[in-house]
Amino acid sequence: MSTPLLQLHEVRKNFGGVQAVRGLSFSVHRGQVLGLIGPNGSGKSTSVNLISGTLPVSSGEIEFDGKNVNDLAISARVPLGLARTFQTTSLFPEFSVRNQVLTACHSRFCSAPWAAVFRLSAARSEEARQQARADEILEFVGLSDVARELTSSLSSAQQRLLMIATALASEPALVLLDEPAAGMVAKERKELTGLIQRIQARGVAVLVIEHHMGLIMEVCERIVVLNFGQKIAEGTPAEIRANPAVIDAYLGGSH
Ligand code: ADP
Ligand code: MG
Repeated sequence: MSTPLLQLHEVRKNFGGVQAVRGLSFSVHRGQVLGLIGPNGSGKSTSVNLISGTLPVSSGEIEFDGKNVNDLAISARVPLGLARTFQTTSLFPEFSVRNQVLTACHSRFCSAPWAAVFRLSAARSEEARQQARADEILEFVGLSDVARELTSSLSSAQQRLLMIATALASEPALVLLDEPAAGMVAKERKELTGLIQRIQARGVAVLVIEHHMGLIMEVCERIVVLNFGQKIAEGTPAEIRANPAVIDAYLGGSH
């Protein structure tokens, strides 16, 4: 098998006395959709924060594309192909939907600032290219119709799609989605399921945290289950569904 795109080796994160993540190891391969599930407080969001570089690890190793990224800030991981969305929305409310995505396109493919100032033809064609890309991404996530609206006027489901569009603008090899279906109704969840499948069809790997088991079971090739910061199971959806430790964690725990 090829080298995994993302590899965690014995990753730990302590917050004072709280051991949020305890010796976590797993990998994500190119183009794979991996689910990270577990009861509330089991360390899912902390894991995504460690992988994206929002938080430093206490110990252990995170490798992306064969490189140790432990010491890289989030801004240095994005150009390597790692992008994330946040559990809470983080959009510019006064921006149009299109400009939100365009800003994200710029942050990856910036021409030198002086080029833009002098309107060199290279900068102009770069600008046109980025606008075409922003429009293509909005089409891809299904937000073309609202491209000119303010981000603050979108429904919460549309705002979540826009966050995914923003993450895709950096042309990632892996997107991290932390509870993308939170607050969505069944129809919106179904659209999101289709979108995750289309992202995978483009060859982009997805790591998704989600409480909604229907969505997880439908989109994931593999699932990693956390409980109290530790991995208690890993396998295909069918294996996870039948795993007694998983059933225990959910029925005996906070769920
Ligand atoms: P999940 O996303 O699975 O619900 P989290 O990763 O958010 O779980 O939290 C795991 C544990 O770490 C919880 O006990 C939580 O209270 C704790 N925790 C998370 N973030 C912080 C933080 N910034 N400071 C202190 N404790 C934290
Ligand atoms: Mg969480």
